[in-house]
Amino acid sequence: MKAVIAGGGIGGMVSALYLHRAGFDVEIFERAEEIRELGVGINMLPHAVEALTELGLLADLDATGIRTHELIYANRLGQVVWQELRGTDAGYGHPQISIHRGQLLGLIHRAVIARLGGDAVRTGWRVEGFEQSAAGVIAQLSSRDGTRKTARGDVLIGADGIHSAVRAQLFPNDGAPIWNGVMLWRGCTTWPRWRDGRTMAIAGGNFAKFVFYPIGIESGQSAMRLTNWAVMARTGEAGSSPRRLENWSRPGVPAEVLPFVRDRFRLDFVDPAHIIEATANFYEYPNCDLDPLPRWSFGRVTLLGDAAHPMYPVGSNGASQAILAARSLAGHLLIATSVEIALAAYDNERRPVTAEIVLANRQGGPEGVIDMVEARAPKGFDDIESVASHEEREAVVRGYARLAGFARK
Ligand SMILES: Cc1cc2nc3c(=O)[nH]c(=O)nc-3n(C[C@H](O)[C@H](O)[C@H](O)COP(=O)(O)OP(=O)(O)OC[C@H]3O[C@@H](n4cnc5c(N)ncnc54)[C@H](O)[C@@H]3O)c2cc1C
Repeated sequence: MKAVIAGGGIGGMVSALYLHRAGFDVEIFERAEEIRELGVGINMLPHAVEALTELGLLADLDATGIRTHELIYANRLGQVVWQELRGTDAGYGHPQISIHRGQLLGLIHRAVIARLGGDAVRTGWRVEGFEQSAAGVIAQLSSRDGTRKTARGDVLIGADGIHSAVRAQLFPNDGAPIWNGVMLWRGCTTWPRWRDGRTMAIAGGNFAKFVFYPIGIESGQSAMRLTNWAVMARTGEAGSSPRRLENWSRPGVPAEVLPFVRDRFRLDFVDPAHIIEATANFYEYPNCDLDPLPRWSFGRVTLLGDAAHPMYPVGSNGASQAILAARSLAGHLLIATSVEIALAAYDNERRPVTAEIVLANRQGGPEGVIDMVEARAPKGFDDIESVASHEEREAVVRGYARLAGFARK
């Protein structure tokens, strides 16, 4: 059996590894001319790390990223609202790993090349559409110079991101991604180690949130960490069009982000304005998602990752859910009596779960705990218990973990 994959992002590449492991032939078509290590920080939750460990990638992840030890939610004055251990430190069987998204893609890509061979990844080819019949599926491809060709397979996986061409053919009236009016600026730079060098913080409230976490150890510099930061703030009305179309590599402008943090945050571990000013290049990304779909699988064609369930980047879930989907899909293809049955079973298993996460992220995800506290105590507090009880705060954070499928058993 042969799988054709549209898109060589994390979802497409991990699908290729799982399908190859299950004994299938795989060909990936990636629109970009080369697989480049783009992006900034990303978090891999324990269940996604479990999947990557199954694929033999844990040593590479450890050599590149950071095993996150603790997550602290705080208000803009740095007062702790919620604090919890993460990954193996919290008793999970697998770590949570904070890592540079480009380096993560790079290590997965190298594994694909090593195991499937160099020809498995065809860069410079955009999947334009497809035709399917009982005999198989044909993907229509185009290159930048206008050359057209087709690729034949038994199954087509649309892992082609938020602007998926496969999804557009399946749902021609789906419309453009929806912006919630919130802009996200994110960058990374080398920064002095904070606490144990494995701690993540999310601080602020409804007006702006500041995210800070280490994603790599600089070689020979144990006191320094490659550190990811992000600022999330409302710059427009929900449902309006973002100033620019969503694009992960749009450069950020310091004068646009600094007013949201300067003199607004008083954190004892970092002045957000300082780390932003120290970052040579950073990016802006309007928070966009799409309504959950009623169906992903149509005969021999299905969707995976951001193509299937684009979500706001809260709760550290986009890449993790794509990885879980890759494992599920390959597992169903391995045991089902037909491709159609396998894709329907995958759809039944993964779509309802991810639809709930998309909707929960619209409510703020686990970070909603700091919004709740800020709304009740905008000038800070002496005793967090008098603002929101432990049970109330726990319900917000743990409720989300359960939804995302990584609550501790
Ligand atoms: C350049 C880039 C940078 C990112 N940076 C971050 C980050 O810093 N932090 C973070 O949390 N998340 C980031 N993300 C998003 C994150 O990687 C995804 O949410 C998550 O990993 C799900 O991956 P995916 O493979 O489903 O989608 P994506 O990562 O979007 O990958 C989709 C791939 O498909 C390719 N493609 C698109 N259309 C076609 C087509 N028609 N035919 C063939 N190929 C096509 C794209 O070039 C891309 O490589 C980034 C995504 C991209 C593309």
